[in-house]
Amino acid sequence: MSTVYLNGVFMAAEEAKVSVFDRGFLFADSVYELIPVVDGQGLEMQAHLQRFANSLEAIGITVEMDWQELCLQLVEHNGGGHQAVYVQVSRGSEGRRSMTYSAAIQPTVFACCQPIPAPLARPVEQVSGVKVVLTEDVRWGRCDIKSTMLLPNILARQLAQHACAEDALLVKEGLVLEGSSCNLFIVRHGEIVTPPLSPHILGGTTRSLLLQLARQAAMPVSEADISVAELCSAEEVWLSSSSRGVLPVVKVDEQPVANGQPGPVWAKMAALYQQHTGTYTQP
Ligand code: PLP
Repeated sequence: MSTVYLNGVFMAAEEAKVSVFDRGFLFADSVYELIPVVDGQGLEMQAHLQRFANSLEAIGITVEMDWQELCLQLVEHNGGGHQAVYVQVSRGSEGRRSMTYSAAIQPTVFACCQPIPAPLARPVEQVSGVKVVLTEDVRWGRCDIKSTMLLPNILARQLAQHACAEDALLVKEGLVLEGSSCNLFIVRHGEIVTPPLSPHILGGTTRSLLLQLARQAAMPVSEADISVAELCSAEEVWLSSSSRGVLPVVKVDEQPVANGQPGPVWAKMAALYQQHTGTYTQP
């Protein structure tokens, strides 16, 4: 039985109860973060917490909380080790269903965690790469807010699963923006390219870490739009996320990326990422 945190109290998951009128449940009026904690250290913890603060501010919820302390305590309550910590704040409940809410509403603060595999130094030669599929981006216009309103992401991910693909890349007006739960990188004429920050993508903590590591290593990098045609003719395609690290894509729909093998720029990037975080890139 796992221990969760709800509104100031650590308790058994079974005992945690939230009102049916909670606006997170009724309207997805809530934001969240997912932070991997490895050996008691949050991966890019400050970046995650800054993004969480930005999401809360963007939807006008104020909570006084030491989030880092909460995450670490929750991991301890669950036996320590390596855990993915999920924190969610919804606007709360006023005991009825109504689009509007009063200034007195109290947020619901929830956190739980799940064990993740131990870090494993996987030689890059053993990584075979993954397939992605393309699908239309039908999300709202503020994808930079990490909202729990994930229905379009879930449907896209399900589509990917049916196609035996790792994820679905979301296409809006001919541009490939990101995956349902990851950011996108390509290598074009030897340069690493990722779509620029905008309200149409989530600013990934792994995305910014990879940009920083690439710049420190003097690898050519730019933040620019990526069209479907550019994706399909890229020398390399990668996905990035906290839970997956940097993952090479070797197939888009049924078409191989270049020669269908993870590329050398990815191998260098994966080694830098592994060195920096001490964690692995999943196959
Ligand atoms: N884009 C979307 C839509 C996501 O849901 C996520 C992660 O959940 C990411 C990108 C990657 O973000 P991060 O690198 O912080 O995990």
